[in-house]
Amino acid sequence: MDKKRIQDLARTLLVEMGEDTTREGLRDTPRRVADMYAELTEGYSMNPKDILSKEWHEVTGMVVAKDIEFFSLCEHHILPFYGKAHLGYIPSKKVVGLSKLVRLVDCYSRRLQLQERMTKQIADALNVNLRPLGVAVVIQARHLCMEMRGVKSGANIVTSEIRGQFEKYESRNEFFEMLKR
Ligand SMILES: [Zn+2]
Repeated sequence: MDKKRIQDLARTLLVEMGEDTTREGLRDTPRRVADMYAELTEGYSMNPKDILSKEWHEVTGMVVAKDIEFFSLCEHHILPFYGKAHLGYIPSKKVVGLSKLVRLVDCYSRRLQLQERMTKQIADALNVNLRPLGVAVVIQARHLCMEMRGVKSGANIVTSEIRGQFEKYESRNEFFEMLKR
């Protein structure tokens, strides 16, 4: 990302909004906007394969990581959508630490996204890199592009993706029961 160019673009945007970019409150805004976008889109430079490569070889039952907070930007409006991701998998050989799952969510949320695609990408990354017996991902989020623009307010949008053994009723049910607790 060319930060200098983002600064120029942010300044142009402010001018087009009718603002005076020399007033005190706005003087550093282009720089702050450039820094912010670099941070909020750092997922593009993160590699899911690297994140999930350091594993332990102890097989346990179902692993569930609940309530992983995330903040993303909708690709239609570049406005935040944010909420919680719940990840579950049934390991065959590989198990990763909780921090890796948090990083995986960061990897796909810190970029321009669609909630449905992000849910699918996280499920696929777990599936491909850990080769587990099953994967389940549920994401619930509020979308400011809907709420701020008055299309819909306060609604949680929920998306889910399941792979492998979670397609069986018992595993899926166990996962969803764990999310309720
Ligand atoms: Zn949007």
